[in-house]
Amino acid sequence: MYRTVSRILTARPASDGAGVKLNRVFGGDRTNKEFDPFLMLDEFGSDEASDYIAGFPSHPHRGFETVTYMLNGKMLHEDHLGNQGLLNGGDVQWMTAARGIIHSEMPQQEEGLMRGFQLWVNLPSNEKMKDPYYRDIETKDIPEVEFDGIKVRVIAGDVVLHDKTLKGAVNGLSTEPVYLDVHMPENSVVEIPVTDGHTALVYVYENEVMVADDETVLKAFSVASFSREGKVKVTSKLSARFLLLSGKPIGEPIAQYGPFVMNTPQEIDQAIQDYRDGSLTS
Ligand code: MN
Repeated sequence: MYRTVSRILTARPASDGAGVKLNRVFGGDRTNKEFDPFLMLDEFGSDEASDYIAGFPSHPHRGFETVTYMLNGKMLHEDHLGNQGLLNGGDVQWMTAARGIIHSEMPQQEEGLMRGFQLWVNLPSNEKMKDPYYRDIETKDIPEVEFDGIKVRVIAGDVVLHDKTLKGAVNGLSTEPVYLDVHMPENSVVEIPVTDGHTALVYVYENEVMVADDETVLKAFSVASFSREGKVKVTSKLSARFLLLSGKPIGEPIAQYGPFVMNTPQEIDQAIQDYRDGSLTS
């Protein structure tokens, strides 16, 4: 059985950080229960330095995880814990902000293409105030498989493809995220099993694919969410690239104020106060 499409959204131009131009796929005012546990997805991509050079100077996060996947370019992360990580093309940074992190994300290039994604993954209430955690995964450490010309990079989670279980670079999280980067040659088809009850999303970033019934066209910069049972089927006529995201819904209320995502407005007030008086990170 294949999952059916429940919603399609197209990314909108937005600006964040110190004026970085990006495409907001979902999140912000378009957060939806259908995306749970995912809160936001941005794609940034430009070869105009003025679109990205200002970067994301020092800013806080509390209550969730940020996942940055670079396709091209160089980005430097530095945080209050003393972590420093330079992301290059193909690298991933998985940062569990939890109780609080203050960090900067700054481009380390003055020309050329910078392209990638930032995904926000929510944390359940009992993990929102745990200690922050940070890891960088180099591109060589991301498992990659190829079959019938289809290339799959397994950034997170376990997935069974062609009867082979593939273990992603990141595992063991309570929301059980699966994060795949799939490169399809022309005229190909892939069926991706997703745990029943889990959210599944397909975000196309190059060309277009057909999903579910083979008749629903999903164009670049669009995301589809699916029904909660069965496999996700993706077909391509042209060569195409997409991200497959899946995860276990948390099902809790969301209170969000910018970079703070908690369950109640009181917890948001507390986060703002903690940031102001310095206890967010102590
Ligand atoms: Mn950030």
